[in-house]
Amino acid sequence: MGMCFGVRDAIELAQERAAAGPVTVLGDLVHNETVLSDLRSRGVLIRQDAADIPTREVLVTAHGASDRRMESLRQMGLTVTEATCPLVHRAHQALKKLVVAGFHPLVIGQAGHVEVRGLTEDHPGCDVVLSESEIDALTERPRYGIVSQTTQPVTRVRELVAYVTQRFPQSEVRWVDTVCQPTKDRQTAAEDLAGRCDVVLVVGGIHSNNTRRLVDTSRARCSRVHWLQNASDLDPSWIQASDTVGITAGTSTPDSVIDAIEAALHEWAHQKTCTQTEAA
Ligand code: SF4
Repeated sequence: MGMCFGVRDAIELAQERAAAGPVTVLGDLVHNETVLSDLRSRGVLIRQDAADIPTREVLVTAHGASDRRMESLRQMGLTVTEATCPLVHRAHQALKKLVVAGFHPLVIGQAGHVEVRGLTEDHPGCDVVLSESEIDALTERPRYGIVSQTTQPVTRVRELVAYVTQRFPQSEVRWVDTVCQPTKDRQTAAEDLAGRCDVVLVVGGIHSNNTRRLVDTSRARCSRVHWLQNASDLDPSWIQASDTVGITAGTSTPDSVIDAIEAALHEWAHQKTCTQTEAA
């Protein structure tokens, strides 16, 4: 659970660049407010719009950006530093190869998400889907080349790829699995955990796509799942004394946040035990 190497490396790069001089991150480096406030305190500027970048250097986040987008930043006179995760880069390369081979680009992911925008912007006409009904609405193409956003659950991606094949039996469908290994590992672990616990706490930012997926996965196996961003969100009424509580966390959640939640739970359990002992 918790922070992946891609996010960790991106944060370290932002810290290094800020120590060397003024730098602006374009968009949220990670979808986690605790991490973002720490970066701001180190002098990292964060802007959502390229037109508002006040520094000469701009850092592209781990989610990546299209070639077109990076070229437009350079045209603005900016020095572009890439914190793009290598596994996002791999997804970009996979889609490019499919397009070059003559396949119509189709991305399984959340339309409008920064990673999906980065994947699709270099491929005009690229379709983005996340449900069977969106696949139903597609125009039939002779060849579909499919990749997915790196943080989608791979089981769901497989289902949707199978649906494309079934919906367009005359089309040639080629899928490259671009779900990243850290996402797969966290999904599998969350599934296993949720099957063994009475309560599951999922820790991560509210805009974090992979945290949302962990919530969905946990809810499929456990009826008492709570999504929280930090220890102050913890509500003791969620948990009974005899419960087994599981914790999982999205890839942008720092270890310190997870540790604080675990410590608060231990403290709460300890107090509960003491109260019960005194009552006896
Ligand atoms: S979630 Fe996967 S693709 Fe995204 S930064 Fe982490 S390792 Fe890279």
